[in-house]
Amino acid sequence: MTETTSDEVRRDVKQWLADNWDPDLGLLEWRTKLVESGWATPTWPAEWFGRGLPGWADPIVHDEFAAAGAVGTAVGGGMGLAAPTLLAHGSDEQKQRLLPRAITGEDTWCQLFSEPTNGSDLAGLATHAERDGDEWVVNGQKLWSTSAHHADLGLLLARTDPDVPKHRGISYFVLPMHQPGIEVRPVHQMNEHSSFNEVFLSDARVPAANLVGRPGDGWRIAMTTLAFERQFATVRAKSGVTPVGRAAEEAAAEAEEYFKTYAWYPQRAGRADLVQQVAELQGRTGDPIARQHMAGLVALRRAHEWTARRAQAARAAGRPPGSEGSLGKLAASRVAQASARTHSLLAGADGQLSHADSLLDGIVTEVLLSVPAQSIAGGTDEIQHNIIGERVLGLPREPPVTG
Ligand SMILES: Cc1cc2nc3c(=O)[nH]c(=O)nc-3n(C[C@H](O)[C@H](O)[C@H](O)COP(=O)(O)OP(=O)(O)OC[C@H]3O[C@@H](n4cnc5c(N)ncnc54)[C@H](O)[C@@H]3O)c2cc1C
Repeated sequence: MTETTSDEVRRDVKQWLADNWDPDLGLLEWRTKLVESGWATPTWPAEWFGRGLPGWADPIVHDEFAAAGAVGTAVGGGMGLAAPTLLAHGSDEQKQRLLPRAITGEDTWCQLFSEPTNGSDLAGLATHAERDGDEWVVNGQKLWSTSAHHADLGLLLARTDPDVPKHRGISYFVLPMHQPGIEVRPVHQMNEHSSFNEVFLSDARVPAANLVGRPGDGWRIAMTTLAFERQFATVRAKSGVTPVGRAAEEAAAEAEEYFKTYAWYPQRAGRADLVQQVAELQGRTGDPIARQHMAGLVALRRAHEWTARRAQAARAAGRPPGSEGSLGKLAASRVAQASARTHSLLAGADGQLSHADSLLDGIVTEVLLSVPAQSIAGGTDEIQHNIIGERVLGLPREPPVTG
C-alpha cells in the first residue's frame, strides 16, 4: 500500500472544497455533506465518517478550510469529549447514531461526572442506575455540570453495582437530558457568571442502547473522556474573518451562543496579555518589583507554550493523549496564578472594584475572581500532581483513603 503524502491531502481537500463548498447552503445541509465526505474528521476511520488519515493531516485540512472560508464541525463538548469517547468505546450502533449528530451540532452535550461530595474522588460517586426492562433508571445528583442547562445529551457516570470495589461498579451512559426526571438548576458564581449547574436525577430514564461499553466499564471509559478534557478548547480562537454566506453566518451564530457560557474563561486563564496595558494605565512600567513579576510571567508563558506545542506534535504524530495533558494543565494553572498575582500587584485597591469603576471595565477584577477555577476544573492541581507522580515518574501510589 502506498502512503498518502501531505501534498496529496492538500490537493484532494482543495479539490473537494472547490467542487462542494457552497456558501449559500444551510449549516445542517453543508455539515451533512461534510459527514458523508469524511473531510469533517479526516483522521477518524473511513468506516466512521473519516478518511483514516494520520494526525498530521488535521492542520492541513484545517488550513484549506480556512483558506476557502468553509465551515467545519460544530464547536463544543460533542466533538471535544463525546465523539472521541464514543469512537474509542461506543458500539457500532452508537457510533452510527450519535457521531454524525455530534459533527453537525444537532445534539449538544454536557458532562455529568462530578457530585457534591465526589469530585477528585470521582470513583466514590453515589448516583446509581438500576436496570428496568429496556431502560436504566437513574437517581442521584450531579454538580458543576457546565452547559447542562442547554444540553440535549449528557455523558453520565452512575453506580450500577454497589457490591464490588468502587472503581469496578460504575457504568457510563448517554443520558437524554430533555425528560421529566431531570431538573437542572443554574449555579450563581462569585464572578457573576452562571456557566454550570446542579442536576437532580429522579427516576430519570436511559435506554439500554445508551449504555457505553459493558456494565462496570464506566471508570475505564471515563479516563478516555478526562484525557481529552485536559486538551479541550473552551477559549474561542480568533479568526478575524467575516463570515460570508448562509452556512458561515449560521456557524458564527452557533459559536456566539456556545461561547456565551465560556465568556469568563479567558479571564480564568489569567489574561497575561493585559498585564503590560495595566502597568501602563497604573504608571508602573518603571517599577522594578512590577517588572520582575512581569518578566517572570513572560518566561512561564513561553515554557507553557512549548509544552502545548509538544502535546500538539504528539497528537499530529497520532499518539493518544499522554502526560503532556497533565503537564500542560498544571502549567496553565501556574500561568493563571502568576498572572493574577501580577494584575493584583499592579491594580492595587482598584482590583477590588467592579464594572465601570474598575480597571479595563472590570476585566481585572474578573480575572482575580475567576483564576481559582483554573486550578479546579477538569481535575485539580493536586490531582494532576498525583497523576504525574504515579504515571509519569513511576512513584509509589497514593495510599487509599479507607473508612
Ligand atoms: C469551571 C468548572 C467547570 C466544571 N465543569 C464540570 C463539568 O462540566 N462536569 C463535571 O462533571 N464536573 C465539572 N467541574 C467539576 C470539577 O471536575 C471538580 O470541581 C473537580 O474535579 C474537583 O472536585 P471537587 O470540587 O469536589 O473538590 P474536592 O475533590 O472536594 O477537592 C477539594 C480540595 O482537596 C484537594 N484534594 C482532593 N483529593 C486529593 C488528593 N487525593 N490528594 C491531594 N489533594 C486532594 C483538591 O485538590 C482540592 O484542593 C467543573 C469545575 C469547574 C471549576
